[in-house]
Amino acid sequence: MNSWQQQLAASLTRPEQLAERFDIDPVPLRAVAERYPMQITPLTLSLIEQPGDPIWRQAVPDPAELLPDQLYEDPLNEAAFAPVPAVVHRYPDRALLLVSGTCAGYCRFCTRKSRVGRPALCLSEQQVDEGIAYIAAQPEIRDVILTGGDPLLLEDDRLAERLERLRRIRHLEILRIGTRVPVTLPERVTPQLCTLLARCHPLYINTHFNHPRELTPAARAACARLADAGIPLGNQTVLLRGVNDDPEVMACLCRGLLAMRVRPYYLHQMDLARGTTHFRVPVERGLEIIESLRGRVSGLGIPAYMVDPPGGEGKVMLTRDCLAAGEGTIQVRSAQGDVILLPGC
Ligand SMILES: *Cc1c(COP(=O)(O)O)cnc(C)c1O
Ligand code: SF4
Repeated sequence: MNSWQQQLAASLTRPEQLAERFDIDPVPLRAVAERYPMQITPLTLSLIEQPGDPIWRQAVPDPAELLPDQLYEDPLNEAAFAPVPAVVHRYPDRALLLVSGTCAGYCRFCTRKSRVGRPALCLSEQQVDEGIAYIAAQPEIRDVILTGGDPLLLEDDRLAERLERLRRIRHLEILRIGTRVPVTLPERVTPQLCTLLARCHPLYINTHFNHPRELTPAARAACARLADAGIPLGNQTVLLRGVNDDPEVMACLCRGLLAMRVRPYYLHQMDLARGTTHFRVPVERGLEIIESLRGRVSGLGIPAYMVDPPGGEGKVMLTRDCLAAGEGTIQVRSAQGDVILLPGC
């Protein structure tokens, strides 16, 4: 059982399978997994020490996901910035290309949790082709970010074909891939994959580690293979209650990433995605955590703390100034100069 496809096929997808290993009642989890898919790779499963721990919280369905809330199914208003279904074009010089509708594991806090792993995010080849054609026709785009879902769940030949077509677009200066595979399914990072990726330079990869326990020997080896292929590695972490909302945990994560040649890039205040209220951390706490890193972690290892407002105005950095709005609200200024008020938690 060593190929990545076999590892993926051995993932748990039903709460009953969890009940065989942990002392839990699977019944309340069934409705959650029907609404938002469950998929836990063998590696992720092996990292769970007990129900409710940081790995469990990220991977196992929680009845709290179904509680009514005032949050959004499309928390970044991506639909308004999608000229064709496979592209999100929010900034003049950058665009997202959605190339995969599935992931190795389904994160309970995912911003696209209402669509990921379901037909809504499974674009046809023709739709991805249309996306590439759109990008080819927009000379102001310099930077394309492959996302989904997880782009590295595509088979090598399909991925290579997509990347090579993008590479032939003269105005694209860099390509980026966002992936959680180094965390959940590091076997996917085969030498063949690294060779294929190295043909597409300049190519950057952003990984998605959220907790020091995810820095496993297998993840470390996968990142080393990517770095040895000349791919600069960054990491995007989501600030999550009960997972990494703690200065010690965050410092340990950031230092561990640096030691793996992965540079902490962004710490994200969680998007206002429906079904994720139980993960929310106050911005004030996020600021305390970031401030606590200064002086304790190499400057190279301190991510920028960002929020992506639900109107689709684009990411903005969070600082103490954002708290000036007072009680329970934060204010940020968009790139266009507009003041945006957001929930402080
Ligand atoms: C986050 C994001 C990007 C990339 O932003 P960077 O700050 O350059 O990493 C590009 N497009 C969209 C729609 C995004 O949400
Ligand atoms: S890997 Fe990324 S896209 Fe996939 S479920 Fe997790 S957060 Fe969402």
